[in-house]
Amino acid sequence: MDKLSSLTRFKAACPFLGRTKTSTLRNLSTSSSPRYPTLSVLTERATKCPVMGPALNTRSKEIVAGYASVAGTFDVDKIHKEKGIVPPPGATIEMCPHASAARAAARMAEDLAAAAAKKKRSKAAHHPHAKAATATPKDAAAAGCPFHLKAAAEAKLATAAESKAKHTGFNYEAFYTEELDKKHKDKSYRYFNNINRLAQKFPVAHTARVTDEVEVWCANDYLGMGNNPVVLETMHRTLDKYGHGAGGTRNIAGNGAMHLALENELANLHRKPAALVFSSCYVANDATLSTLGSKLPGCVYFSDSMNHASMIQGMRHSGAKRVIFKHNDLEDLESKLKQYPKETPKIIAFESVYSMCGSIGPIKEICDLAEQYGALTFLDEVHAVGLYGPRGAGVAEHLDYEAHVAAGQNGAAIPGSVMDRVDIITGTLGKAYGAVGGYIAGSEEFVDMIRSYAPGFIFTTSLPPATVAGARASVAYQKHYVGDRQLKQVNVRKVKDAMSALDIPVIPGPSHIVPVLVGDPELAKAASDKLLGEHDIYVQAINYPTVARGEERLRFTVTPRHTIEQMDRLVRAVDQVFTELNINRLSDWKRLGGRATVGVEGQPEYVEPIWTDEQVGITDGTVPRILKNGDKPVVDAKAVNAARNVFNNLLGTIEGKVQANRTRVNAEGGVELVTSTLTTKSEMMKSGVAIPIVSQMEGSEMKDAADVAASA
Ligand code: PLP
Repeated sequence: MDKLSSLTRFKAACPFLGRTKTSTLRNLSTSSSPRYPTLSVLTERATKCPVMGPALNTRSKEIVAGYASVAGTFDVDKIHKEKGIVPPPGATIEMCPHASAARAAARMAEDLAAAAAKKKRSKAAHHPHAKAATATPKDAAAAGCPFHLKAAAEAKLATAAESKAKHTGFNYEAFYTEELDKKHKDKSYRYFNNINRLAQKFPVAHTARVTDEVEVWCANDYLGMGNNPVVLETMHRTLDKYGHGAGGTRNIAGNGAMHLALENELANLHRKPAALVFSSCYVANDATLSTLGSKLPGCVYFSDSMNHASMIQGMRHSGAKRVIFKHNDLEDLESKLKQYPKETPKIIAFESVYSMCGSIGPIKEICDLAEQYGALTFLDEVHAVGLYGPRGAGVAEHLDYEAHVAAGQNGAAIPGSVMDRVDIITGTLGKAYGAVGGYIAGSEEFVDMIRSYAPGFIFTTSLPPATVAGARASVAYQKHYVGDRQLKQVNVRKVKDAMSALDIPVIPGPSHIVPVLVGDPELAKAASDKLLGEHDIYVQAINYPTVARGEERLRFTVTPRHTIEQMDRLVRAVDQVFTELNINRLSDWKRLGGRATVGVEGQPEYVEPIWTDEQVGITDGTVPRILKNGDKPVVDAKAVNAARNVFNNLLGTIEGKVQANRTRVNAEGGVELVTSTLTTKSEMMKSGVAIPIVSQMEGSEMKDAADVAASA
């Protein structure tokens, strides 16, 4: 409460503060404003209040300082620098009232000026705040003032909660508050930023205010497929033909040709007999593991200690025994497998790419152990599908790269290959494929059993046809074009190397993940806030429980669509923020004995990437060229045709340039229609009118892979 105590003196003056519960005030005061990440939501709202805003403007700095004590913790460093103060490690804004006041006053003035300008622009008669400024709080709420409306709603809620507590004897609201308090106390409360990724400006997004743009460096749309032109074109066509929702569960009306075709596409990708699509891979993992573990008699799970929550939940829900082995530790796994008779059903559950540290599971060696001890292998390739292997099937495919290149696009298994030896593969359509959804792939009987028994598959509405079609277009495109995967690797290497050269502690790993160790939850959040607020760079801080306490980090995802200038700017900004916040560098961690494999004696400082120079195209000079600002991203013509062709039977044939967008963002930031109908080749032939299909994908360039190589 100490943080909020200065507010209590305003309780009598401000109806909002008077009526708002302390817990709500605490939440508002500890949440960053999406518009100004430097401010708390509470401070930002106070500046807009028709009653408190003007009052704050004219009151003394002492009052402003009262508000400042609950504001964000962003500009402190700057002020300290200006004032020549070097704060001790762990110092917080509360310890430094004059800095708080100065910062708050500056921000407050900025907000008030903006509010005043806005007010001036709008007609006084139509402005609800104009009326509210002289009215009672009730009138203000009725006039539409969001501040008072919220207070009124909360007062109502509080009354309802009190009366409910009287009837039931249990104070539910207090219980929620206590649970949330725990999260605030252990610093694991999650703050979500308002980030709106712009299809035509990838990797740029706008924040809560549409004019505030930032570069996104942590999205899992790893290849930019969320706005690939053939994906968008396919989705538009499907939406127009089949509408939006699927209409039911797979059992009722939601089992369409698009769903079945996507499952065939995925089975082909993994060279497995069958696949099954779920609403997400969280659901796929949970549903599959809970069903398998509860059905297999006496089943024992062997689970990597760094497995994702979806797998952990699935294993827990099954009720089966779960034995945890040390991360990627084959000796530990074997010693645990040995303890059970060969005939006991066992499942080894693990991942290929571990997304928070970037390590890669020893898939082949785990398959060897599974065969030796009679276990099934369950491999989560969520952070690998689309990104590894010549066709994007994941790390299991990547490990037999040449064999899969030679096998081409037919979906037959390659006997003895790693992908063939893995029994169950799960993947997502929501990351590298840029859509949403998850799936499993395996034997016919296994897939049919899950389809028949898993509640998480059966009792939920299936994905919308347009989403399913977009996902399939994405998978098909990536099967036929390796350039995005190669360029991603080139850019990842570039960023990792540049950071390492500046002593920035990148957690070493062979994958595309770029995790940078910070080692403290508040510093990690402060670094993320600073990058966003001062550099327009968005990277989310990763804190407990996603990573262990003390191993907090920034996790960067570099795409093939980030330009050389953007990468240079990112590295410079991270370097500056590390200096300003005095965050440990690699050399510091070495001195301190290391953490999270960074600077730990005996641990490699550098791990070879799994994509070799040859596979990336460096050896033979076919490596795709890094984009520069203003360059058009490459769209491969052959892959576009391949992705279009798989829809010929359902959507008709289509030729010519890709029509990705039928709307355009205009100068005011609105969306306007630029063309109303898409004409397919078959429709053209039927009507006898030749209407060209127009490319609306501004800023993209359609090329053959050969052209791409030539321009490299
Ligand atoms: N498995 C792993 C390893 C993940 O990291 C995630 C999501 O982040 C999932 C499964 C869930 O995938 P989805 O986002 O499709 O639900």
